Amino acid sequence: MKKYIISLDQGTTSCRSILFDQNKNIVHVEQQEFTQIMPENGWVEHDAVEILNTQLQTLNLLIQNSNIDIENIDSIGITNQRETTVLWDKKSGKPVYNAIVWQDNRTADFCKSIIKEGHEKIIRNKTGLVVDSYFSSTKIHWILNHSAECKDLIEKGDLLFGTIDTWLIWNLTGNHFTDVTNASRTQLLNIHELKWDKELLEIFQIPSSILPEVKQSADDFGHWNFKDHQIPIRGVAGDQQAALFGQECFEKGMAKNTYGTGCFMLMNTGGNIISSKNGLLTTVAWSVDGEVNYALEGSVFIAGAAIQWLRDSLKIINHASETEQLACTTKDEDVLFIPAFSGLGAPYWNMNVKGAILGITRNTGIAEIAKAALESLAFQSKDVLIAMEKDANFKLKSLAVDGGACQNNYLMQFQADVLNCKVVKPVQIESTALGAAMLAGHKSGFFEKNTSQNSKSKTTFSPQKSTKIDEKIKAWNKAISSLVNYYDQE
Ligand code: ADP
Repeated sequence: MKKYIISLDQGTTSCRSILFDQNKNIVHVEQQEFTQIMPENGWVEHDAVEILNTQLQTLNLLIQNSNIDIENIDSIGITNQRETTVLWDKKSGKPVYNAIVWQDNRTADFCKSIIKEGHEKIIRNKTGLVVDSYFSSTKIHWILNHSAECKDLIEKGDLLFGTIDTWLIWNLTGNHFTDVTNASRTQLLNIHELKWDKELLEIFQIPSSILPEVKQSADDFGHWNFKDHQIPIRGVAGDQQAALFGQECFEKGMAKNTYGTGCFMLMNTGGNIISSKNGLLTTVAWSVDGEVNYALEGSVFIAGAAIQWLRDSLKIINHASETEQLACTTKDEDVLFIPAFSGLGAPYWNMNVKGAILGITRNTGIAEIAKAALESLAFQSKDVLIAMEKDANFKLKSLAVDGGACQNNYLMQFQADVLNCKVVKPVQIESTALGAAMLAGHKSGFFEKNTSQNSKSKTTFSPQKSTKIDEKIKAWNKAISSLVNYYDQE
């Protein structure tokens, strides 16, 4: 029996290669950052070749520094930043333009024109997504119209498109494949049929010849050749979907929340495609053994970023982790912090709103502000989760958590109290990389049966319901609607 799986975790700022053993323990990690290219305001690009080289360097270093016998590698799993778009020449292997990153909003005007032409409803129904520059479709359109060589390459059948999973798979194996979770973020996949959609391709003026073949998330993606050893790639998923899988949210109604710079929440809705009435996205969670799970997705723009703001702009703390201690030193319940630095996302969707700190008195100090900032992560997550529960018609029983800020115990307890449901932090909070490894190991039954996160000790925060919490929730809701009123009347 092989002993290890390698997970390639290709993120927005760094590439990591992580070695997992059969008990889901991390044996070794190699990580390297790569360049963020920002040619204009709102534009974000990556050099796809740099990403590939950085990823390969971490992979080679992992094999070298962990001293493992290559014979003992079962397979590779890949998880990646989603939506980021690469087009390249099949013959030379060279990208025709830098990768356009998910954060890039250069296609905002094109999105507006798509909406004006009345395509929004069809796009929403077929893809589960809103028309936004976030997704790959308009990024592909932009590159096709701004790179002179594209026309010629299309005529020769030599132009290929891929999200970053596809770019890595093609370079590692020679196969032009993607998985269904990544495909569902291009805005070109019909999520009902799990096929590229002719009508969508026409709307975005994209030739079907450039698209990769769509595989399941646990599938045969080909082999990477390392010193005459053929290592299979068997698992691929976009980062948020991989985290949902890594958190073992296998059943309908299970949800995870990742507390990073922003918060990303996904709820498994089983085989049902639920169309949101509250501004959430519908997406493919995974496809394994011919069975597809869908998810509702919502994000909070400013979560850990509010803590960064205390540290880097206000300079009232030195480290994000100090906020836990600070929050515990005050009994103040009046200060509320709404970090709407760039408007309010799901479920409020109001881009006019700016942030506010309310309830300040002469006694307000660093501790009160820090506590209110932490609580804002929990309140915003609550609002997204309530929208999910309404859309899906489920009551959440427990929320699986991960991401940097989930290390803050004050925040996690407060989250449980506000949601009035259990918040569960696994031992292994690298859910994204683990999810990709679990997908890769699925077919070979690589992971020991008793290595389920459920059988490992984990921290559970049980809700402590109190009138204090109810009042605070009321105050938060009132503050949000007052702020929306304030800015809408401008
Ligand atoms: P990302 O992947 O978005 O870069 P991470 O998952 O690495 O984010 O988490 C980093 C974010 O979490 C930062 O915004 C930081 O402010 C916040 N953070 C990290 N540790 C803590 C903590 N102990 N308490 C509160 N916030 C924290």
